[in-house]
Amino acid sequence: MAKKSSILLIYTGGTIGMINDPISGQLKPFNFKRLLDEVPELRKFDIKIDTFSFEKPIDSSNMHPAIWIELVKLIEKNYLKYDGFVILHGSDTMAYTASALSFMLENLGKPVILTGSQLPIGTIRTDGKENLITAIEIAAAKRNGKPSVPEVCIYFEFKLFRGNRTIKVNAEHFRAFTSPNYPSLADAGVHLNYNDAAIMHYPKGKLKIHTDMNLNVAVLKLFPGITKEVVDAILGIKNLSAIVLETFGAGNAPTEKWFVHAIEKAIKNGLIIFNVTQCNAGRVEQGLYQTSSELARVGVVGGSDITTEAAITKLMFLTGKEKNHKKIILQLGENIRGEQEGK
Ligand code: ASP
Repeated sequence: MAKKSSILLIYTGGTIGMINDPISGQLKPFNFKRLLDEVPELRKFDIKIDTFSFEKPIDSSNMHPAIWIELVKLIEKNYLKYDGFVILHGSDTMAYTASALSFMLENLGKPVILTGSQLPIGTIRTDGKENLITAIEIAAAKRNGKPSVPEVCIYFEFKLFRGNRTIKVNAEHFRAFTSPNYPSLADAGVHLNYNDAAIMHYPKGKLKIHTDMNLNVAVLKLFPGITKEVVDAILGIKNLSAIVLETFGAGNAPTEKWFVHAIEKAIKNGLIIFNVTQCNAGRVEQGLYQTSSELARVGVVGGSDITTEAAITKLMFLTGKEKNHKKIILQLGENIRGEQEGK
């Protein structure tokens, strides 16, 4: 008989575990034990579920790379003990955390499924129960003795997405997430249908965690009329290692001389600039239009179809672990964890 699967359920906070504060009327995180009491269905599972709660559950707007480091250390410490991990997390920054964890967990061979909800689990119409129950089922699922989905994912409203391909698109609907440039990894209906062709292969090497995340990064979002003062202020930030340049359409930017010069000068001074489109879907193709040729010429790195969430965490990760500029730039253009199209 196959051994019972076991998962570690990690609670960081988020709406799923919040209650209405009777005094202020605001939503605040509450304790994990109460959260589990709200889902007696979990006891019916033939899965061993252990739990770990962060001492102070947070609204995910307070998420920080220091907590990502705690999470990957926790996963490493418990890696051999469990078949999979479920992380309860606020939806607001879930796509950032999922992206960061995908980079920080090299050679991940087990599921790490992030989920949460739009309504607290204690409310009658909550979306939290289904999200939690199915996320646990996916984290415990195996095929031929191996985990069905050995990657960092987000499960929300009947869809399993690759974490570093996911963006939050709705602050109200239960369908809060989408993965515009990569297919879903599984769809939950009457059956749980896995999209095997899209799921990452089991890794060859052993799990290796990375905890050096460099926070000297920024996002510069372009808009028509952006002034030289704004651009110079961001590019001139002391000790800045890299920025995500959020451009228009297929990676286009103004061709005004002051702008191109500012970008060129920053790159010459050692800043890494990663070009990501403001569009949800599609990709950056530097050189397709005249308005992106200059960026390519001065050394901006095209980010293909990567999301901003994955791009900023990829920059933190690469500039944290690697000091050689050429190597960072090379890896920025590559697909290292399934986060973008590329070799
Ligand atoms: N503000 C909440 C959070 O991100 C929203 C949610 O959980 O959906 O923690």
